[in-house]
Amino acid sequence: MAENKLPEEEKNTRSLNFIEEIIEEDNRIGVYNGRVHTRFPPEPNGYLHIGHAKSICLNFGLGKKYNGKTNLRFDDTNPVKEDTEYVDSILEDVKWLGFDWEDRLFYASDYFGQLYDYAVILIRKGKAYVCDMTAGEIGETRGSPTRPGSESLFRSRSVEENIDLFTRMRLGEFPDGAKVLRAKIDMASPNMHMRDPVLYRILHTSHHRTGDQWCIYPMYDFAHGQSDSIERITHSICTLEFEVHRPLYDWFIREIGIYSPRQIEFARLNVTYTIMSKRKLLELVRDGNVSGWDDPRMPTICGLRRRGFTPASIRNFADIIGVAKRDNVIDVSLLEFCIREDLNKSANRLMAVLNPVRIVIDNYPDDLVEDMESVNNPEDESKGKRKLPFSKSLFIEREDFMEEPPNKFFRLAPGREVRLKAAYIIRCESVAKDPETGEIIEIHCTYDPQTRSGMPESNRKVKGTLHWVSEKHAVKAEIRLYDRLFTIENPDDPENGKTYKDYLNPDSLRISSAMIEPTVKNAVILDKYQFERTGYFSVDKDSTPENLVFNRVVPLKDSWSKVEKVK
Ligand code: ATP
Ligand code: MG
Repeated sequence: MAENKLPEEEKNTRSLNFIEEIIEEDNRIGVYNGRVHTRFPPEPNGYLHIGHAKSICLNFGLGKKYNGKTNLRFDDTNPVKEDTEYVDSILEDVKWLGFDWEDRLFYASDYFGQLYDYAVILIRKGKAYVCDMTAGEIGETRGSPTRPGSESLFRSRSVEENIDLFTRMRLGEFPDGAKVLRAKIDMASPNMHMRDPVLYRILHTSHHRTGDQWCIYPMYDFAHGQSDSIERITHSICTLEFEVHRPLYDWFIREIGIYSPRQIEFARLNVTYTIMSKRKLLELVRDGNVSGWDDPRMPTICGLRRRGFTPASIRNFADIIGVAKRDNVIDVSLLEFCIREDLNKSANRLMAVLNPVRIVIDNYPDDLVEDMESVNNPEDESKGKRKLPFSKSLFIEREDFMEEPPNKFFRLAPGREVRLKAAYIIRCESVAKDPETGEIIEIHCTYDPQTRSGMPESNRKVKGTLHWVSEKHAVKAEIRLYDRLFTIENPDDPENGKTYKDYLNPDSLRISSAMIEPTVKNAVILDKYQFERTGYFSVDKDSTPENLVFNRVVPLKDSWSKVEKVK
């Protein structure tokens, strides 16, 4: 990704993506009378991730663009894996991303009665039957893509017998797995999904919304399209793996004889160095590889939020990557680019020293404290200025000093001058070391009082400018530095015999501390700052006024792509 920005105009005049083309053509010929009504249909069996964010931005974005509507619908057909904890988190995440479903929050479980009636319609038409085979037997008789399946012995049951059995399935007369309702389509179809798919299974399990009202539950495929139809969705946008389900989607709607939405598939978002499967993300949480769904290393929306990502940065990311028809993998550095771009404009600056070494200004009065002024955000004058206390003893970054520097080292070294940002030019006079370890414990400097802003020498040229914090005013904070959760670009595609877990990065979290200027005392959870010269940081939820905790959102520069280019 080039460093240059996507100009606003380009966004507005950009050519239509293929979904917009379909919608505009439908509108032109009046398929849905110009109506555009999309939906975002999560299954509440996990927390949303950046891939879902892409789908949310796409669906709600199309609703907005075409003056249409977008529903939020929970496809909650599997009581075994679903939970209200997930429902609540999904509602929170969609809202946080900045989208509004208004009064259109729906649940497929609200349609269980209607879906049951649709199944009865299919039975009466001779298009569905009750089958007594076990799940294993059904699997074995399905055949393979190159070999037709064989028909169930129960396929020829009469309509009356099927109605009777289906009614009794609903009444709870049979145990789990004893019977299923199947569509009667074609066991020789080249499309495996058309080989008499299961519509209903028996599950004596409470549902998070319908309780014990039902002991049979519709399969996802049977619930999803019909729910779209009930809600009069126009364009039902889903990911590519559903392309092969489309004939079935259309078959149900046609055979039941109801309003027909149009299913359109796009490529799911994959991002390098992470995984997107809810099942695997759940495993990471359950196995304690991360601290929870909102661990700042997770690709979940709540993880990204806790890390310090903003809704605008995620929306911008979704916009830049566009929609594709073919599977692809997006470089995570593009997401990092988006948050840097946003925080550069919106985050105030702070001086924070991550790896401190003390400097003592020998010619500075012992007890003097001067307030230096510094701009809060050079990109936004309206953010004003703040005062930084300056005193005799200060911290700078250990890396900003070298005793025997190479030529190109423009920071502090014996006999050399640097500017302390918003303060004075100082010169290094000597170094004090620990006699045992040889480690530098103090750097002695002198300052030039004429170099403060507004003084005659303030514009004097020196090669380096350093950030600093006054020792006695510094606030110590915990700093959590994150690296990629996985060590390879595509942990979902491991080498033979390995799994994604073999590629967990043992150094993905490093805890350290920093000395920060006193303004930081006012910081509250989720506040974001640019620590001058080091990166963007956000206050973690573990933070207390006594013990501030910061997450590094991203380093200031894209050090990764540079490192990789050099190799
Ligand atoms: P599952 O394996 O549990 O079905 P899922 O990721 O498909 O996982 P859903 O809750 O069914 O989860 O997804 C809700 C919506 O988000 C669907 O329309 C799905 O197509 C879309 N979606 C899911 N993952 C991605 C992704 N990586 N990129 C884009 N859209 C996605
Ligand atoms: Mg799904």
